[in-house]
Amino acid sequence: MSPFERRRNVVVVAGTRPEVIKTAPILRALGEQPWARVRFVFTAQHRDLASPLFDFFGVSPDVDLDAMRPGQSPADLCNRLVVALHAALGREEPDCVIAQGDTTTVLAAALASYMRDVPFAHVEAGLRTHRLDAPFPEEANRVAASHLASIHFAPTDEARDNLLREGIEPDAVHVTGNTGIDALLYAARREAPLGVDLAEGRRLVLVTVHRRENHGEPLRRIREGILRVHDAHPDVEFLWPVHPNPAVEPVVRAEFGDLPRVRLVGPLGYGPFVTAMKRAAFILSDSGGVQEEATTLGTPVLVLRSVSERPEAFRGGVATLVGDDPELIAREASRLLAGGRGESRGPLATAFGDGRAAARIVSHLHRKLVVEAPGPVFA
Ligand code: UDP
Repeated sequence: MSPFERRRNVVVVAGTRPEVIKTAPILRALGEQPWARVRFVFTAQHRDLASPLFDFFGVSPDVDLDAMRPGQSPADLCNRLVVALHAALGREEPDCVIAQGDTTTVLAAALASYMRDVPFAHVEAGLRTHRLDAPFPEEANRVAASHLASIHFAPTDEARDNLLREGIEPDAVHVTGNTGIDALLYAARREAPLGVDLAEGRRLVLVTVHRRENHGEPLRRIREGILRVHDAHPDVEFLWPVHPNPAVEPVVRAEFGDLPRVRLVGPLGYGPFVTAMKRAAFILSDSGGVQEEATTLGTPVLVLRSVSERPEAFRGGVATLVGDDPELIAREASRLLAGGRGESRGPLATAFGDGRAAARIVSHLHRKLVVEAPGPVFA
């Protein structure tokens, strides 16, 4: 780049824990590019869960939109975010806006970019359950984001095919792998201590539950399944970092607080959580990111959902869909425990990525924003 050329302004928007995890590799890789001036706009959709990740990944927000309000509905949040992001983009004058995934933050970033006529690049584009009601509202958020985006970074071939079936231009879609795997490999290399004392000689089962569709009755059915596993396998200890969502935390603490072999802890830092995933005999989870991570680590995962937008996880047999069926949870858990599995083999290169997704994204952005941009723009 000639010294007279203007650096391209790239705004990266993130607000939740998984978004910070999955955009951190992009922020880090873009930060090394002489052609890019990167601005990290944090919406604070999950301030408490996301903030500890800044130090871990060595990234820090340039703008904090502080968008959460107590008792705020998704509609209020979306409204507040679109207005705040539209104003922020007016100040930052970006050449491109990047956001990852399917939250209200992503939908708002796509809408605000569209309103400002700024190209929106969607990371982890093309994931679909093909059911607008599941997961709600994430399926609608990602479908809408795809149709507002002009650059689509699909993690897998199947995600790309979903986009092409919806009429997205093939030239605008790039298969890069999932940046979550870049983050996972970064964390796995650091080998953070677990930080929780677990009993010697017991096998570890890691549990996470937070999704809206599991609130209420499904959580009680999942509890029934976990109790069956607990009672049938006295050599197993459960580690459950409880999500702070008010529809989850009080229920889990009330129902499981007394069981001696269920350790309820607060959300783990990403490094310790990766260590727990590596050590676990298997994982019970409704998280999207955990399906990708567990598959990559080679740790079996029983997925507490009725549908998944990540069919790649199920192909190799590492992930199994069990929904909230207590019988199925107990049966699949016993099958995995009978396998006598010790620590996971990982990290493995899988369908989800090889740890180089952010580098591919940066190289596509360079081509789009610098090489193919009309003429040099002088400062
Ligand atoms: N995670 C974490 N600590 C925990 C639980 C999860 O760091 O106690 C990480 C996990 O490794 C994954 C991400 O948080 O990368 C998943 O976030 P969440 O389940 O909230 O969202 P989803 O993946 O379902 O969008």
